[in-house]
Amino acid sequence: MDLLKRRIMTDGLIIDNSLLKVDSFLNQQIDPELMMKIGEEFALRFKDEQITKILTIESSGIAVSVMTGLLLHVPVIFARKKKPKVTGDDVYTTKVHSYTKGESNNIIVSKQFLIKDDNILIIDDFLANGEAAAGLANIVEQAEARVAGIGIVIEKSFQPGAQKLATAGYRVESLVRIKSFSNGQANFL
Ligand code: 5GP
Repeated sequence: MDLLKRRIMTDGLIIDNSLLKVDSFLNQQIDPELMMKIGEEFALRFKDEQITKILTIESSGIAVSVMTGLLLHVPVIFARKKKPKVTGDDVYTTKVHSYTKGESNNIIVSKQFLIKDDNILIIDDFLANGEAAAGLANIVEQAEARVAGIGIVIEKSFQPGAQKLATAGYRVESLVRIKSFSNGQANFL
């Protein structure tokens, strides 16, 4: 997706040659038009998969997931990183190690939102070690639903997540793939 590559080149900030900061359009301030273009791309790639719901994780996966859900005409569920007081105990949960925060959280989805016949598209903003996506897939499988595919906005291909998910048999569609960072620039595949 050239539009996204160009945006990363102009607005992205690289930290320690491993982290990409995209707070100006994805992770804090959100560019709705770019989110819609990303949604269009995911909707196109997964249009033949009979998706019934999208599952993402709060908070940065939500905007792109909503755009995709709008175009595929399906609801969007987001896993929570902390259990709110109003959420009962009827939940699916699994432990996920956060790449950026360096801590593990039990992510949570209420059981009522996933059913056995669901065909789920998992979406997230970044793919690094694959912890978040694998955790979401684990929740789908606890519900005995099917993972139809995994849509990633930015894949850091020099980290093991994409390979790990492919080896586990999931279809992974990443809109941009970064093979390395050097001299303050992202090098795309
Ligand atoms: P993983 O679970 O695949 O190790 O890491 C993916 C999660 O960590 C994403 O949900 C994202 O929030 C965060 N993450 C991983 N790498 C980056 C990065 O380079 N930049 C930002 N902004 N978030 C990242």
